[in-house]
Amino acid sequence: MGAISLRASGYSLCACTIALVVTSLIPSLSYGAGFRTRNFVVTAPTAMAAKTVGERAEAYRKTIAIAWLGQELPAWSKPCPITVKLTGGEAGGVTTFDFDSKRNAVADQVITVEGSLERVLASALPHEITHTVFAAFFGGPMPRWADEGASLLSEDLRELKRQDQIVAGLLSRKGDMPLAELFKQEEYPPDLLGFYGQGYSVARFLIEIGGRPRFLQFVRDGQSATWDDAARKHYGLANSRELDRAWRAWYMVAIRQSNGGDPPLLARAQSPEAETE
Ligand SMILES: [Zn+2]
Repeated sequence: MGAISLRASGYSLCACTIALVVTSLIPSLSYGAGFRTRNFVVTAPTAMAAKTVGERAEAYRKTIAIAWLGQELPAWSKPCPITVKLTGGEAGGVTTFDFDSKRNAVADQVITVEGSLERVLASALPHEITHTVFAAFFGGPMPRWADEGASLLSEDLRELKRQDQIVAGLLSRKGDMPLAELFKQEEYPPDLLGFYGQGYSVARFLIEIGGRPRFLQFVRDGQSATWDDAARKHYGLANSRELDRAWRAWYMVAIRQSNGGDPPLLARAQSPEAETE
């Protein structure tokens, strides 16, 4: 899972799979079936897929917004297009945003997802819907590490385990960044997998110690003021360096637990579907 960034005049692209960027931005004429819900208009190869994705997108939009913001998003003034490309492969997705910088609001958003329908529903779709919830909250581009790291937490256990492996590899080869550096990355660095993985791990840590709404406040304050001040205000840590130490200490404990065979607690808690049960 990689990422590409395009940003100009408020335009922001979250590209969650490079292969998808290459393939799915090529217009396809074969997607005939459509399905409209209150907030989405889905185009997919079959009517069943379009309806299933549309209904699940609405359900995710509701549960993910409640989980992160404590309330549902207001209905969008225009539906968000979702294009579904069904393949036999793994899930991937791209969401592009156009922000209105005067109103601090999303002006336009478009989602593309691909993979088997099962993987799209379990992985790509909740990931991309999480980006739309964050975009509504921030009204502008969110720091990359947090946007991708926290969106990954909406995916299913299979993807989270994959991220855990990526993080383990990243740390063992010392490819990680000091958090003060990670927080300031405005564009995606060359090691995309590692960048996503470290963002995922740090987001998971912060949410485990402080919950999701606090995480968003921390990111907003870190972006608008300084990350040191935000670490002090929201987590009682002296600065980003202390936060970095705390994350590494947490990681060592978490990895020992996962080596014991227990599924990550947060992975279960983060599943939007699990929260409605
Ligand atoms: Zn993403």
